[in-house]
Amino acid sequence: MKISILRLGHRLPRDERITTHVALVARAFGASEIIYTGQHDGSLESSVSRLAKEWGGEFSIKYEKNYEKIINEYKKNGFVIVHLTMYGLPLPEIGSRLKADCSGLLIIVGGEQVPKEVYEIADFNIAITSQPHSEVAALAVFLDHVTNSEPLKRSFNDQFKGKIRIEPSERGKKIIKN
Ligand code: SAM
Repeated sequence: MKISILRLGHRLPRDERITTHVALVARAFGASEIIYTGQHDGSLESSVSRLAKEWGGEFSIKYEKNYEKIINEYKKNGFVIVHLTMYGLPLPEIGSRLKADCSGLLIIVGGEQVPKEVYEIADFNIAITSQPHSEVAALAVFLDHVTNSEPLKRSFNDQFKGKIRIEPSERGKKIIKN
């Protein structure tokens, strides 16, 4: 199943770090791309692309001005649209209704005020607790859930085939350069 992230309303300089972290979490948990709206940010794109090249895997980042265009396009291609929001229904109430046979998941996370249309257009508005926190945390918990925690396993690392990788160890840091 292909997993794509749509990050809404990127603001410079305020969201530089947090959008980077959204991208890093997405990649580490097996998503294949992040699309962001808001302000275009060349340095965000180059730092995410550089990291993906070094640590491996297929992960891309792209900018799109119009979020509705992306949502409609992905819907048409059979993706289930999930919007992560504290106002949504708790994940345990929705988890089993997420289609296992969909071609993919488009996961929307906000930044600034999320337009009300997003709540309407999404197939599911899902809360990771009904308390305010962060798009990074919400995404990590949700991806852990939909991937059945596979990315947490040692074997998941094999798919990245990067120039560098970590050899897990009980103590210290072991980095292998390929
Ligand atoms: N004021 C914003 C709004 O209009 O929703 C929320 C800002 S919040 C810092 C940024 C994003 O984090 C939200 O759009 C949502 O995607 C995510 N988020 C924060 N808390 C969440 C929660 N409890 N469950 C799911 N997602 C959450």
